[in-house]
Amino acid sequence: MVTSGAWQALADECARWHDLGRPVEFWWRDDDAVQLVAPLARLLAMAEATQVPIALAVIPEAADAAFLGGLSARVCVLQHGVDHRNRAAAGEKKTEFPGTEPLEATLSRLARARIRLGAAAAERFVDVLVPPWNRLSGQLVARLPAAGFRGLSRYGARHAAEAAPGIRQSNAHVDLIAWHTGRGFAGEEAALGLAVAHLAQRRLGAADPGEATGWLTHHACHDEAAWQFLARLFEVSRRLPGVRWVAARELFPDRATA
Ligand SMILES: [Zn+2]
Repeated sequence: MVTSGAWQALADECARWHDLGRPVEFWWRDDDAVQLVAPLARLLAMAEATQVPIALAVIPEAADAAFLGGLSARVCVLQHGVDHRNRAAAGEKKTEFPGTEPLEATLSRLARARIRLGAAAAERFVDVLVPPWNRLSGQLVARLPAAGFRGLSRYGARHAAEAAPGIRQSNAHVDLIAWHTGRGFAGEEAALGLAVAHLAQRRLGAADPGEATGWLTHHACHDEAAWQFLARLFEVSRRLPGVRWVAARELFPDRATA
């Protein structure tokens, strides 16, 4: 296999971890699932074939109950907002949870959707919120336990293992999509660069060493290059010593077992 500089850099960084006797933990989050469209079926088949655990961030309002009920027990379902509708005020960045919506109203929407999604996804459900556009206020974070959540997943290195008391935090760090330039695959250099940067920051203590590095996909936006990259990532990572793909259930343990 031809190894480009970016793949070599990933292998080198993983080797540094291995030399330190530390496992490299990765996890995989895919956003915007609602029903079993062809790209999602392809993604799930890939997860099954590679045995890499997948966490689907599902939009509760739009989610198809038959699709959720038919998922393999190894798939984890996280809650991706309520309806994924942009409610941002003029000049505000995209968000489902704007400051203009009363906090109690937001919490009650979230709690109702959590109960519905939890019932449909059953044992696959992990009560973790993935806010659309990775955005929500600090006030809302602090109140998430009241809406029944135990975890939060956004984008970028976390500042603490708990986003608020009782809310475990595990984010994604490697976005495969170039949102501002064509919404296709960001490219090997960019994606692997993000992964190596997060791993190096963890190793050197500039980021929380205990936060698994999260790979973020959006099945609906994948071009063929993105699919090929993912396939290669899973193949390469299997052969790198000490690399382990962790299920969301492990990152967000049940309070009873934590
Ligand atoms: Zn989304």
